[in-house]
Amino acid sequence: MEEKKSKGEEKPARSLNFIEEIIEEDIRKGKNDGRIHTRFPPEPNGYLHIGHAKSICLNFGLGARYHGMTNLRFDDTNPVKEEVEYVDSIMEDVHWLGFDWGNRLFYASDYFDQLYDFAVILIRRGKAYVCDMHAEEISATRGTPTRPGIESPYRNRTMEENLDLFTRMRAGEFPDGARVLRAKIDMASPNMHIRDPILYRILHASHHRTGDAWCIYPMYDFAHGQSDSIERITHSICTLEFEVHRPLYDWLIREIGIYAPRQIEFARLNLSYTVMSKRKLLELVKEKHVSGWDDPRMPTISGLRRRGYTPESIRNFAEIIGVAKRDNMIDVSLLEFCIREDLNKRAIRVMGVLNPVRVIIDNFPDDQVEEMEAVNNPEDPAAGTRRVPFSKELYIEREDFMEDPPNKFFRLAPGREVRLRSAFIITCESVEKNPETGEITVIHCTYDPMTRSGMPESNRKVKGTLHWVSARHAVVSEVRLYDRLFCVPNPDDPEEGKTFKDYLNPDSLKVVKGFLEPSIRDAKAGNKFQFERLGYFVVDIDSHPGALVFNRVVPLRDSWSRAENQK
Ligand code: ATP
Ligand code: MG
Repeated sequence: MEEKKSKGEEKPARSLNFIEEIIEEDIRKGKNDGRIHTRFPPEPNGYLHIGHAKSICLNFGLGARYHGMTNLRFDDTNPVKEEVEYVDSIMEDVHWLGFDWGNRLFYASDYFDQLYDFAVILIRRGKAYVCDMHAEEISATRGTPTRPGIESPYRNRTMEENLDLFTRMRAGEFPDGARVLRAKIDMASPNMHIRDPILYRILHASHHRTGDAWCIYPMYDFAHGQSDSIERITHSICTLEFEVHRPLYDWLIREIGIYAPRQIEFARLNLSYTVMSKRKLLELVKEKHVSGWDDPRMPTISGLRRRGYTPESIRNFAEIIGVAKRDNMIDVSLLEFCIREDLNKRAIRVMGVLNPVRVIIDNFPDDQVEEMEAVNNPEDPAAGTRRVPFSKELYIEREDFMEDPPNKFFRLAPGREVRLRSAFIITCESVEKNPETGEITVIHCTYDPMTRSGMPESNRKVKGTLHWVSARHAVVSEVRLYDRLFCVPNPDDPEEGKTFKDYLNPDSLKVVKGFLEPSIRDAKAGNKFQFERLGYFVVDIDSHPGALVFNRVVPLRDSWSRAENQK
């Protein structure tokens, strides 16, 4: 498969971001013959999240826009934490987002031989040495940003001795942690990453792709830039925390003497009311705070997908937030806005009642059923109409009735009229109550047959319009009302003595019974709807024929900002 180039051919209406400026400048100067080649380099140690989505949109977006190419490369240099399950999920997620790496799927482990050869080059040039100190000693002698480190006693080994020891490290002669290969740079550098960083370590562990072929593994810093170079990546785009690694990135490429990509850093996406580190997400999964990586409350791409997010809404979100040079926090309500906007255009409207109270239309014939015509999507005339049965006994939301309403309550109340969406105007005549609890059990109403669409009174002004469902036609379903997983904007910044898990929102999932109009009976997993007046909902993969399960994607309005404004 070749890159779908059409997506990027038109330039965006907005001004260029700083990465596009750099790229256009490089094209103008004829650098790399105007060739643009990016990559997305995930480590397969967890599922991708919305932050990765931003990086995917950025890298693949640039590749497409500048008629270049984008590789998918798994940075699989740590055999201990990496699993095939993650590799598979990452490929699925990138495809789902709408991007394609064509025949450019790579693994850093494909380059283990070449990387080894690069290490040998460094040793031969006197730029790397085998150090016998243990990891703790190495970090203890590294110094601090204001105090220089101490040179390793093994730093001045001869090239021959280093070569011999490195060969034997590879041959498996030494146990884990006995020795490492270090770059010989500068133990006094103000940049800690330059203080003779470790390049290779001994790890007798099976790798998910290379099996037991290796017992030494390159460190991230040694694998990453060299892999970029091997793939002739022109612009190696990464997040800000790698800015301090850039001198090492450039040093290694220069000292080995290979093709030099350009590393550019941008601010990672931080999203309010969530955590994004894979370690923390894994903790939530392992400790069962969520049902899995694809729990609809997770910021993972698989979680967002199950929650009912569309690839378009996520790509649009990535475009709106743009790329910045400084760390910032994006309000999750912007992501919610993007999915609302997308689903508003394409989700079919249906009616469903989640907290029902019975309504009896006293003047409606007992066994009669009238089919009402309802508009599927007012935003999309092509979506057409559907039929919704009306009968003597209905459900409406309990919140839509008040016995003793305040002035501004425009819904149903004794003696008042409301319109039932796509049906008739009804008037409340009386209520029945449970004598013990006082709870309203039945609302008696009368309907005006002349108010049906197309009838003379259909345009009569009434202040409220309610959604409803015919009780005996209702499809009873499980409805999962998801909310934000955390109840504070920044769970990553806990108070003293607390952890991010202390801020989990106890109300992030409520399961209720939904009474839904019969048109949704045959809905399939992934189908999305607007439940009129309630929000957007998606059919969950837990559904079975005759037992539908819906997830709430988002309510129709941003209830969180309203709650905050009321404080
Ligand atoms: P985490 O910190 O969540 O574990 P990571 O950076 O270790 O993520 P990688 O698999 O190494 O995860 O990331 C792959 C790519 O995605 C990298 O280029 C990284 O810079 C980018 N990336 C990761 N998190 C974000 C984020 N929050 N915003 C933007 N890009 C991100
Ligand atoms: Mg990483």
